[in-house]
Amino acid sequence: MPSGKLHVVPLGGLGEFGMNCMAIRWGDDIIVVDAGLMFPEAELLGVDIVVPDISYLTENRQRVRAIILTHGHEDHIGALPWMLSELKVPVWATEFTLAYVEDKLEEHNLVDDADLNEIRAGERFKIGPFTIHPIQVTHSLVDCVALAIHTPLGVLIHTGDFKVDPTPTDNRLFDLHSFAEYGKEGVLALFQDSTNVERKGYTPSERAVRRKFDEIFARTERRLFISCFSSSIHRIKIAVELAREHGRKVAFIGRSMTSSAEIAEDLGYIEIPDGLLVHPGEMKNFPPEKVCVLISGTQGEPMSAMSRAAVDNHKHAKIERGDTVVLSSRIIPGNEKAIYRMIDHLFRRQAHVIYEDGSFPPVHVSGHASREELKLIINLVRPRYFIPIHGEYRQLKLHAELAAEMRGAIGQVMLIESGDILEFDELGARKIGRVNVGRVCIDSGSRTDVVEDLIIKDRRHLSEDGIVLPIIAINKLTGLVEASPEIVTRGFEPGEDGFIEGAKQLVMETLEVSSDEEKADYGVIKEKIRADLKRYVSKQTQKRPLIMPVILEI
Ligand SMILES: [Zn+2]
Ligand SMILES: [Zn+2]
Repeated sequence: MPSGKLHVVPLGGLGEFGMNCMAIRWGDDIIVVDAGLMFPEAELLGVDIVVPDISYLTENRQRVRAIILTHGHEDHIGALPWMLSELKVPVWATEFTLAYVEDKLEEHNLVDDADLNEIRAGERFKIGPFTIHPIQVTHSLVDCVALAIHTPLGVLIHTGDFKVDPTPTDNRLFDLHSFAEYGKEGVLALFQDSTNVERKGYTPSERAVRRKFDEIFARTERRLFISCFSSSIHRIKIAVELAREHGRKVAFIGRSMTSSAEIAEDLGYIEIPDGLLVHPGEMKNFPPEKVCVLISGTQGEPMSAMSRAAVDNHKHAKIERGDTVVLSSRIIPGNEKAIYRMIDHLFRRQAHVIYEDGSFPPVHVSGHASREELKLIINLVRPRYFIPIHGEYRQLKLHAELAAEMRGAIGQVMLIESGDILEFDELGARKIGRVNVGRVCIDSGSRTDVVEDLIIKDRRHLSEDGIVLPIIAINKLTGLVEASPEIVTRGFEPGEDGFIEGAKQLVMETLEVSSDEEKADYGVIKEKIRADLKRYVSKQTQKRPLIMPVILEI
């Protein structure tokens, strides 16, 4: 066995939901598995996306050889535009994933400079000291792979996201055989998706929603709207097939839905017979019982097509009394309010709304492996080391416990989090330290829009304690303060009477004790007013609103 150290460093996704990214290093060569984003929580006000801190990679930029993507979900590819603008690195991914990546890079004008390389399940490729074998897995998206990474110390298997779906709609089956082969030959470490470790049994096949969809098509008398994630290709395929069988035309509405369906059709995942598809604008020419609309926006995103249709504010998607709306997705925690608000609007429009309510057959199924599937893969792979990935801390911990009970199938379980350096050598594996990790907030997806901490602080400030604007009119010629200052507040409850009067008084006093020079320097005088008001406000109200003095020259 060669002497040397193999380092595995998760940069995101272990101990948090999303932002999946893992560096694997041997000597002077680093490869990266996945480049995901995280959708911001409500406390990151107004931030569009969150990406992992990749300073470990930028500090080692001359060593980074490749980014390899397991599949096309945002939590695996969404940080790519940002990472490629920081690091010039070739990207390797399957055909379908690359189509999503190109679409995304085009939005940021990065596609011409990108070095994109197609991989196929079953075809090995070599990067530096690593030989990588993509293995076909099944998931809610198509063309997804796990990676068997041959290193000088042994084979690492990274599952990516998966469930073991025996009947995927594209008939591209989970390659259990390869997992079993590696199990026989010996695997150094298995890194496995923890997302659904809390679910017993097996996750139903993507095909399970077909029965429910068929029932819905059969009993729907007017227009049928189906909303699902635009990446739910299996779901779109089922809906398109049923629309044809039930004699309905299909319209796609929403940018992400339209472009995703186009990619899926181009690559042969869905077949749309001539004459089936209609432009959204043509729908009004067909009787309501002859139309099926696939529309984006299952999470109640305010600008999405579904949300706008729900409040009758979409040019083509008109929802009328007696129409049926199907929300074929899970409710992502944090989005409940927005989703139920949207559902309320749909009820007001007197639509029938069908959403996931636990009934069977399901209107939505998960894309991630439940406990029995997780055990199945562990039993096939029988790794020396087992490391749970993709999950919040409790999921990683529960997954570690599940694995620890499987004595005989596993050597040792290692529980690590984002930033931990897991070191392997001929003696074994251990945690040896940490690298910097964290979240980088981005306003609209490009590197120039990284939001400074300060801005987020200001935004939080505004939302919690409001804003106080002292407005002072100064005569430009004389430097004298004209009239008494105005105090405007927003989102801030001054409480006691007399607060505003007191604040005005205080601003006047600050002005009086300031020299003419200070008053002429607006920067200085504003800062003095701000500091004095801040003391006053916090004494009077125990609050810390954002205080922004405004000077009007008159
Ligand atoms: Zn996924
Ligand atoms: Zn994922």
